[in-house]
Amino acid sequence: MLLALRNYQQVHSWHSSDRCGCAGPVQNNSEWRNNPKISEVLPESGPGFCTYNREADGKDQVALADTIRFVTDLGLEWEKESDVPFQVGDMSRQGGGDFPPHSAHKNGTEADLRPFRKDGEMLPTNINDPSYDRGRTRQWVTLVKKLNPQSVVLFNDPELIRDGLTRYYKGHHNHLHLRVDNGLDQQQGC
Ligand SMILES: [Zn+2]
Repeated sequence: MLLALRNYQQVHSWHSSDRCGCAGPVQNNSEWRNNPKISEVLPESGPGFCTYNREADGKDQVALADTIRFVTDLGLEWEKESDVPFQVGDMSRQGGGDFPPHSAHKNGTEADLRPFRKDGEMLPTNINDPSYDRGRTRQWVTLVKKLNPQSVVLFNDPELIRDGLTRYYKGHHNHLHLRVDNGLDQQQGC
């Protein structure tokens, strides 16, 4: 009974926390509001990827067309390497701008993703959980860096940080934050 309760609490805390919840440097750039270019919606799934915590009509998975194309192209390449899709969560809102509780996700160039699990299930995990698949997560970030060397991935696996694949950012033990490089100078955030 106690174990079941603990498991429930663990799963519950995973579900409530695998969105960015931290308060990092805030981007106060008003040009990101009502940007008509931030209007492309990520499909609910496609070759090599699927989505999680998705709102109706993908209202929380809107981005610049280039960002959407990067994610779907990444899926096509990833499918050649892996039979486990990657999972995409929050991106931006229509037109960009504030997306609580995120401090970033305002400009249509970012996405949260779940780390991979050894059992291949489309569920949360984190770097301290036995289900976490470091090998496959490393493989995925390596592909991202190959396709877009300037992209930034925030994720707190110390081995991936040591190898220069990801950067530490508080709260990022249970999700990866991908910022696709679009030539703009942007602050780090989540
Ligand atoms: Zn994020």
